[in-house]
Amino acid sequence: MGIFSQAAFFTTVNHIKDLPQHGGKEVAFVGRSNAGKSSAINTLANHVRLAYTSKTPGRTQHLNYFSLGNNSFLVDLPGYGYAKVPPESKRHWEGLLSEYLQTRDELSGLVVIMDSRHPLTELDENMLDWFAPTGKPVHILLTKSDKLSRQQAALTLNQVKSYLAEHFPQCSVQLFSSLKKLGMEEAEKVIASWFAGKSKMPDGTTSHSTRPPKNGDQVAGYKPD
Ligand code: GDP
Repeated sequence: MGIFSQAAFFTTVNHIKDLPQHGGKEVAFVGRSNAGKSSAINTLANHVRLAYTSKTPGRTQHLNYFSLGNNSFLVDLPGYGYAKVPPESKRHWEGLLSEYLQTRDELSGLVVIMDSRHPLTELDENMLDWFAPTGKPVHILLTKSDKLSRQQAALTLNQVKSYLAEHFPQCSVQLFSSLKKLGMEEAEKVIASWFAGKSKMPDGTTSHSTRPPKNGDQVAGYKPD
């Protein structure tokens, strides 16, 4: 049984003070709007409508918690890069996200969803830059890989890997397709290792970034859904 097999909606949070005190561990999912985050969560959980719960009106700018059992939680963060957001809710949301990502002790690692056809957009890099100082691991799912030829997919993966090795050594990356259900085992393995408390790099070192954040202490340019 996979780590996501018991996934069930748990709670929605709109203020830091409302974060659940569960004493367990969390893994958060984030990504550009439309990159395929909900599909990836649903595919991993083998649950067609699970993450779309997060897209119901009123929940799109909140942190949506899913319980995985064993005091483990998946946190679905709002998509970024979507322009139609009033400045006030954008500010509220950026503050909530910044504080959550920077201070949440229970957060074991961050899964970043990128469309394999255009990975590492500026907003994606802002997110990586900004999260890197926490020293926590990041795993990137290059999703919709079914839309690339085998050759293109391999090339993209290699290019992203080399870039990460140089700039974001705490990040690992893989190909993923919700449509074809490709990459599920690999993703599960990485996330399970975070829940198990192993957040070291494959070479055995503990990860931390070599670059300071570019954008101050908020997620600049982060435009939630
Ligand atoms: P989100 O906004 O990041 O949650 O993205 P969604 O999961 O809602 O997906 C956005 C669009 O991409 C939808 O039309 C999905 O059907 C499509 N999509 C998501 N994942 C895949 C995939 O792996 N392959 C293909 N071909 N389409 C996908």
